Amino acid sequence: MHMPVTVRFAPSPTGRMHIGSARTALYNYLLAKRVGGRFILRIEDTDQKRFSPEAEAEIIEGLRWLGLDWDEGPDIGGPHAPYRQTEAREIYREHAQRLIEKDHAYPCFCTAERLARMREEHRARKEQPLYDGLCRRLDPAEAAQRIAAGERHVIRFKTPNEGTTTVTDMLRGEISVENKTLDDFILVKSDGLALYHLAAMVDDRRMAVSHVIRGSEWLSTLPLHALVVRAFGWREPAWCHLSLFLKPSGKGKMSKRDATQAMTEGHSIFIRDLKEMGYIPEGILNWIALMGASFDEAQDVFTLEEMIQRFDLGHLNPSPAAINFEKADHFNGTHIRRLSTDDLAARLAPVFAKAGYAPDGAKLRQVAAAVQVRIVTLDEAVDMGGFFFRENVAPDPKDLPGKGLTPAQSADALRAAREILAAKPAFDPTASEEELRALAEKLGYKPGVLFGIMRSAITGQTVSPPLFTSMEIIGRETILARMGAAEAVLRKM
Ligand code: GLU
Repeated sequence: MHMPVTVRFAPSPTGRMHIGSARTALYNYLLAKRVGGRFILRIEDTDQKRFSPEAEAEIIEGLRWLGLDWDEGPDIGGPHAPYRQTEAREIYREHAQRLIEKDHAYPCFCTAERLARMREEHRARKEQPLYDGLCRRLDPAEAAQRIAAGERHVIRFKTPNEGTTTVTDMLRGEISVENKTLDDFILVKSDGLALYHLAAMVDDRRMAVSHVIRGSEWLSTLPLHALVVRAFGWREPAWCHLSLFLKPSGKGKMSKRDATQAMTEGHSIFIRDLKEMGYIPEGILNWIALMGASFDEAQDVFTLEEMIQRFDLGHLNPSPAAINFEKADHFNGTHIRRLSTDDLAARLAPVFAKAGYAPDGAKLRQVAAAVQVRIVTLDEAVDMGGFFFRENVAPDPKDLPGKGLTPAQSADALRAAREILAAKPAFDPTASEEELRALAEKLGYKPGVLFGIMRSAITGQTVSPPLFTSMEIIGRETILARMGAAEAVLRKM
């Protein structure tokens, strides 16, 4: 019988939510949805010194924005509550006690001074700083007495001194370490709060987690985790450590400094920033999904639904992936073009509103359709299409002359074009396109040169949505007035 699939995303809310954690959440989510399993959100806040409520809020907001909804979690509850580790202190303490009883753990009374001295000595001898096992050798009766007398202590795991520990990672195969290199690591601190190594393993068991899919930074502690699970006599989950993210150059891990550098270049690895910069969840999901997995050889653009249908743990790739911000733009633009006009208009409304425009429904829809073919992020719609919501445009005079033309030649061309448009009883710019092209040819210019002059005159910009679509939105009177005004500017140059 197959074990039902249960996965979890277990962030420590100590910093900002970045694309690495979003990708971990995504792969967990995809597996759960693919096989009809459960996806749990668990908050690992055992490190109270580094815990930040803002970080937790940012994670939750990020997951919701990406559309990675969970079946159980601290906000919605579920059958395995608590989902926040600081609320499960007693559970971990009982489990640590069980390990002591099974002779897999022991209380350690060593003072901070003694441990610091020991570390110093190790450093001086260039040895690995492992605990020397002083309290491991204590008589259990004496240890119990000292605890009863209220002496300060931690609980350490008793790692085997000999032999090797072998664990299987789904992407990398067997990993073996010599046990003598493993520390008797701390399970419960002197304040009674469990550390992650114990808390996470206990929670994975409590929550019946079948697959632990997480970042590769946990690969080095994997043997410790497997030892804890085995010491309890539990069945191990399938372990799957994802590929590492490298900086764009591919040379080394992404550091805090690299993240800041990316921001100065108009990029970001943080989910909230990407949202605020006008990226859409579809684009970001597609981007991060392909950094570490393949879904289909014949295509690379997928919606979340399409990823669910194709997801397979066997397609995860353990090789490090360099972050490529151009690809974020590529996927974002592609997904913007796939949206329905109504959907895009709804997403653009707050973006235009934030920029100070009050776009009404029908016009917003037209503008959305016009900018859709060109924008890479939602925010670009403001630069590209904000003018649609302004009464007047003010082209920079230096942008008015056509490429390679004098101002006088440009004025003549603009007047001739204006006459063509003005002569039509029904205003239909698209139907006039052929005639305008013929005009350019007759004047001996490329059509693009004429359209460039018209674009500057009509939109006030050198880059705009497609010219003829834009003209339809702007309307006859305004266009003729703007072309006339631009001609007058050109005549004076
Ligand atoms: N709390 C750990 C982190 O944020 C989770 C590791 C795990 O998934 O086991 O990296």
